[in-house]
Parts: sequence; structure tokens; C-alpha cells
Amino acid sequence: MTAPTAPTAETERWIRNYVDGHFVDPDPDRGFAKADPATGQVFARVHEADASLVDRAVTAARRALDNGWAETPVRDRAELLRRAADRIEERFEEFVAAEIADTGKPITQARELDVSRALTNFRTFADVAAAAGQESFITDLAGGRQALNYAVRKPLGVVAVIVPWNLPLLLLTWKVAPALACGNAVIVKPSEETPSTATLLAEVLDEVGFPRGVYNVVHGFGGDSAGEFLTRHPGIDGVTFTGSSATGSQVMKTVAPQVIPVSFELGGKNAAIVFDDVDLDEALTGLTKSVFTNTGQVCLCTERVYVQRGIFDELAAGLAERAEQLRLGMPTAAATTTGPLISQTHREKVLGYFALAEQAGAKTLTGGGIPDLGPGLAGGSWVEPTLWTGLTNTDRVVREEIFGPVAALIPFDTEEEAIALANDSKYGLAASVWTDDLRRGHRVAQKMRVGISWVNTWFTRELRSPFGGIGLSGVGREGGESSLHFYTEPTNVCVQL
Ligand code: NAD
Repeated sequence: MTAPTAPTAETERWIRNYVDGHFVDPDPDRGFAKADPATGQVFARVHEADASLVDRAVTAARRALDNGWAETPVRDRAELLRRAADRIEERFEEFVAAEIADTGKPITQARELDVSRALTNFRTFADVAAAAGQESFITDLAGGRQALNYAVRKPLGVVAVIVPWNLPLLLLTWKVAPALACGNAVIVKPSEETPSTATLLAEVLDEVGFPRGVYNVVHGFGGDSAGEFLTRHPGIDGVTFTGSSATGSQVMKTVAPQVIPVSFELGGKNAAIVFDDVDLDEALTGLTKSVFTNTGQVCLCTERVYVQRGIFDELAAGLAERAEQLRLGMPTAAATTTGPLISQTHREKVLGYFALAEQAGAKTLTGGGIPDLGPGLAGGSWVEPTLWTGLTNTDRVVREEIFGPVAALIPFDTEEEAIALANDSKYGLAASVWTDDLRRGHRVAQKMRVGISWVNTWFTRELRSPFGGIGLSGVGREGGESSLHFYTEPTNVCVQL
């Protein structure tokens, strides 16, 4: 946990909690500073919710359910979701600006990925929920009689939604949209690093007519702060969490006494396998995206690249050249491709791995340090896009999630060896296979021990598909019907005919 800083005169702008349909007046003694990662400049103070405010949010959510939200017809809830998407679209540039201020991500990405996906999340889950059917069975009984069995799906109830800082609005709406579509009330705890878009979303949901208490936002940190107050609260009925595996494990312990459903989308140490029959240019374009998107801060990013020996040198040189063409700079500049890391603390962690790679005898093909971007950006948490060779699967940098713009390139000879190397990880989130041999593509993709396995693409998402991870990468699946299953509880009704 980062210690909250005392309020200062640096800024008078507050990012507030939203409880029971109202923004809460901030307590000046419970503010922490929010800085722009690109420049290091503090631009707002965030009101850290205490246990009693979290309790108010849980109480408000329960009341909203009891006041009729849980019984609202699904078509009405779907209509509200569609209106939310339309309103985000109208306020699109405000969301883009808020996401950039919090994360320093490039404007093109904030527009084309983060905020665009928020619209798609609301629209997709409106459609998925409205179209959902129910399973039913005719059961044959003794004496020629029959019984009809069907399941009625009811909302899970009060759902705690805890999300990270890397794709804040995208990941938040990926959970909030299906939760609301299913008739739940949510208390959202965004990352302390990225409080803005969750707060802006409160305005939008209020504007389009969601009843009070259905969507609440509490700000703060994890342990001994809003995150723990929320997950420890006896009034919650389920937790959906995206974040690191270590925090996921902690949250699991916290909620264990209550025995409530959890959905965990956790870390990754994702592999790419590149075969020597591949179209090199296409593979390089895909790999550049998969290693460096969002400065490597996507759970699905590739940090291990296994390359068939015959093309190893050419591919390594080509990827280093692409990395050097990335444009680090002001997030609001249209030409910028790559932003800073989220914080100085995270940069220290990533730089620690740079040092570890060196100690392990890695050859740095490109990067490995802090870029000089001029005085305006000197206070930001920048690192250079970095590629290594000369490492093996036993090195810590190849085993642990770094969550930065980095990858280790490792040669292999046979398909079996590549599969074994890629699967040699406690994580199991994503993999990508690059080959012109489609039979091999299917074969290898299916052997990956992961939640999602791409062939000749990366981060291509179908939101109706199940999404999640294996091993340290998570528990459960969300997406499409999997989301409807997590955010509802079925009651089997059995009628003798
Ligand atoms: P984090 O685990 O540090 O924090 C995630 C959230 O949990 C934050 O809101 C934080 O305040 C809260 N939190 C921390 N400790 C808590 C506690 N004890 N109780 C309750 N809440 C607590 O993760 P991060 O650094 O914000 O995000 C990066 C991580 O998220 C990476 O590991 C990345 O791989 C993972 N991630 C996974 C997915 C996925 O879909 N699998 C997607 C994005 C990010």
C-alpha cells in the first residue's frame, strides 16, 4: 500500500466518492494526491473512503436491490445499459482526457481501445442479457409421470468490483455492465492510481436514470483501506476482482469466512511461439503490438517470445528495430505510441528486473534504461522499450510477471520443445502462435495451458467468449454467458406434471 499523502495546496480539485446516488463531500483529512504519470505533476486529491463510508455504500446497494432494482425486467435494464453507452459516446472526449490524466496512455489508444471498449461492453452485455434463455428438462418419473425442471436466475446481490489501473474504464465496465444487466447493485473500488473514469461513470449512470444505490464508487487503497473494508464487509454477496495474483490470493483469504462467489482475473507471463514458416513482417507487427501495447501493462502482453532457431537472429533484429521506432512522448500528441509506466513505484520494480536481467547475463538488444525525453517529461515514470536474448526459462525475469515494455527472446528447435517451454509457467492467461501452417496453428494453440490462445493475432477479443486464466492467472470465467452465470444465482424449480 502506498501511504496517502497529506493534503497540500498543490491542487484544490477533489475526486470524490459516489454513494447512494450522491457525490460525497470530501474529508480534508483523508485525501491522497493523484499525479500524472507522464509528468509527475499532481493534478487532484482523492478522497479515501473510510470503513463507515464503505458501509454506507453497501447499505445503499442493498436498499436499491430491495427497492425494486433486482426485480426490474431485463429489457428495462438492457435499455439503461444502452443509454449509458450512448451517453459515454456523447462525453467520449471527457473520458479520454480523464483516462490520459490518470495513466499517461497515448491518446490514440485511449480513444480506440479504452473508451471505445467501454461502449462495447455496455452494448454487448445489454444484448447478451436480453437474449439469454433458460435451460429446462422434462424428467421421466415412475408410472409414466413426468416433471418439468427449469432454472430461474436471480441477481447475485451486492457485488464488490475491484479493478486495477492498467485499462481502468475498460476493465471496470467489463464487470459493471454484466453485473447491472443481471440486476445486481455494485460497489466499485477502482485502483488508487486511476480514480477518475469510475467517478465520471457515476455521473453518466445518474444522468441516464439508473436508480440511486445501484452503482457506488469508493476510493482508496487495498489493505487496511477501501479495498479491504469492502471485501471484509458482511453485506456483500460476491467479489469480482482483476489485479495481481498476490492480491487475488489475499482477497480470497479475506472473503473465505463468508463463503461467497469470487471471480478472479489475475496476472500473466504470456508466451508467443514463432515458427520459421511465418510471414516475418506480419509476425513482427503482431509481436510489436503484443509486447509494447500500453507500455507492456496489459495482463495479456507477451513477455516471453520463443523463436524457431532458423529465424531467431532475423526476428530478434527486426523486433529491436520496431521497438526503436516506437514514439515515447506527450500522451496527447497524435504521433505518440508509447506512454510512461503508471507510477514511480512501478518503475522501480521494472528497473529492478532490468538489473536482474543484466545479472543473469542477458544481452540487451535494445533499451534497458530510462529515456531522456526532455525537461517537460523528466518527472514522469518512463522506461525504454527493452528486449533481451541470452536468458532461459530458469531466470527470474523469464518466470515472474514484470508488467512493462519488455520481452525475453529464446530460441527453440522443435514444436514439442516450444510447447513445453511456453507451458513451463505457473501463470496461464494467454498465448499466441505465429505460423503459416494452419494445422500446426490449431494444434499448438490447443495445447497451450492458458485461458486464451491466439493464432496469428493478439488481443483480438470476442466479448461473448469465456475469458479468464488458469493457475496463478485466475479463477472462473467472465464474458458472454459466463458473465451471466457469475452474476446470477440459479434456483431450480421442479414441477410434477
Ligand atoms: P493490484 O493487485 O495491486 O491491485 C488491484 C486492485 O486491488 C486495486 O484496486 C487495489 O487497490 C486493490 N487491492 C490491493 N490490495 C487489496 C486488498 N488487500 N484487498 C482488497 N483490494 C486490494 O494490481 P495492479 O497493480 O493494480 O494491476 C496490475 C495487475 O493486474 C497485474 O498483475 C496484471 O496482470 C493484472 N491484470 C489482470 C487482468 C486479467 O484480466 N487477468 C487484467 C488486467 C490486469
